[in-house]
Order: sequence, then structure tokens, then C-alpha cells
Amino acid sequence: MSTLAQEAAIDGLRERLAEARAAGGAVGFVPTMGFLHAGHRSLIERARRENDVVVVSIFVNPLQFNPGEDFDSYPRDLERDLELCADADADIVFAPDRREMYPEPPAATVRLGALADVLCGASRPGHFDGVATVVAKLFSIVGECSAYLGEKDFQQLTIIGRMAADLSLPVRVVDCPTVREPDGLAVSSRNVYLSDAERGQAPVLRRALQAGAVLVQSGETSGAAVEAEMAAVIAAAPLAQLDYTAAVPASTLIAAGPLQGEVRLLAAARFGQARLIDNIGCRAG
Ligand code: AMP
Repeated sequence: MSTLAQEAAIDGLRERLAEARAAGGAVGFVPTMGFLHAGHRSLIERARRENDVVVVSIFVNPLQFNPGEDFDSYPRDLERDLELCADADADIVFAPDRREMYPEPPAATVRLGALADVLCGASRPGHFDGVATVVAKLFSIVGECSAYLGEKDFQQLTIIGRMAADLSLPVRVVDCPTVREPDGLAVSSRNVYLSDAERGQAPVLRRALQAGAVLVQSGETSGAAVEAEMAAVIAAAPLAQLDYTAAVPASTLIAAGPLQGEVRLLAAARFGQARLIDNIGCRAG
């Protein structure tokens, strides 16, 4: 196992990576907001297998939280995160503070199109612009690399992939499958907010997606019918407050006529103070 380096300065990280690249090393990058879990670990391990140098960033990005959301209470535990990164054999943890990333409120930000206004963007206005802005900045700091992102946040993954392509950023975005608890709940830093009773009902999200997939695979091509079926499954859990269900083309995430080809099923619901999201893929026709 290599020794884990901790870096808080942008210039310091650039210097370390310049040295690694001069030695011919391919860079794998895992951007996170910390409070690392088995999902993040799977990304780090994949980056480790496929690269010479592995950088994990930990930064709770204020730009992507709306007023009244959980920025202040978002779980943080840098010591434990460093242990997980060392154990997963990462090389560098980049954990800047807010002043290092935003010495003043940014005058230049990334503004996305329609993809940011649907699904989670509809209930979190400006959220994805904030995500894209910090990820563009991180990609600019890290430079040429493969970036490992989770399918758990499928809309985010799609947006970042499009941003990297549209802006010709020197980054290859690698999709990584969702890591789940044994009962099917997607692992998430926000699962710590759940009470025992909410935790017991939270796997309903995944069950709803699976019910939607069965319907699509049995020939249903109406997105609205699949969405209604998934919503009905979630409604049977008394502690779930539905935000949305969606059955949309996997490549665009925007509904366009009958379902065909690769379809993404997505759902979001609140359980107490936790807003949970999940998604799976399936094929129509
Ligand atoms: P976060 O720290 O929640 O911003 O997530 C950082 C990265 O980890 C994102 O690319 C997420 O999609 C990914 N991630 C979070 N949870 C999971 C999971 N359960 N399985 C796979 N990847 C995940």
C-alpha cells in the first residue's frame, strides 16, 4: 500500500500531479463530498485498478445546496474518510476548505440547459449548475484524467458527461454501478438521517423501480403508465413522501413519445429529513 498524501492547496495538488505525469502516470480522479462509504470505495478501487495515481477530492460544495437544504448538517468525518482512502489504496486526498475553492463568490459559473431543470433539478433549482461549476473547477485543477462517477446519481452523471464533452475537457467520465445495502437500498451519505422506521421503508424506492422495469419489459411503452405504477408502489410506504417517478430515454432523460430502446427509471422521495434518490436501467421493445 502506498502512503496517502493529504493536500489542501490547489497549487500543491497541481505540483504533485505534474510530477506523477512527468513519470508517465495515468491519473484517476474520484470527486466526492466526503463521509465516504462502500459506494465511494467502489469508485476508488476501480480508479486504483485502472490508473497509476488516484486522487480523491472531498469538498462539501456550498454552491449546490439551496437555502433550507442540508449544507450545514451534511455529515462530515475527515479522519474516517482518510482511513477509508488509505485502505482503498488512494494516493492523494484533496480536501480544500471553502476559502481555497472560493476566495470570493464566483463571478464565472457553469450554466446548464434543459437537462438541469428536469427530475431532481425541478425540485432543486440551481443545484446542477452548482454541481457542474465545482466539477468543472475540479477537472480544471486535476487536468487530464479518468473521472469515476456513480450511476447512483444518474442525472448528475449524465450532466457531467455532457459537460466534459461539450466543453472538450480533457477528462474521460467513467460510469460506475450503484452499490447497495443487502436489502436493495442504495448506499448514501444521507442514509444516516433515517430513523429505524424510515430505514425499514426506504428500500421501497428500489422495489418501485423494479416494478417499473417489469412493466417496461412486459411491453408497456407509456412512460406515464410506468411512472404511475412506480408511484403506487412508493405510496404504499406510509413514511415516504414522493417527489417524482420518471421513465425516460436513458441518453437524454427527457420524455419524448413512447418508450423505446434504453430506458432509465428514476425515483426520488423524502423519508423524514432525508431526500433519497435511486434509478435503474431497462430496455423497451
Ligand atoms: P457524493 O459524495 O454523494 O457527492 O458522491 C460522490 C460520488 O460517489 C458520485 O459520483 C456518486 O454518484 C458516487 N456514489 C454515491 N453513492 C454511491 C453508490 N451507492 N454507489 C456508487 N456510487 C456512489
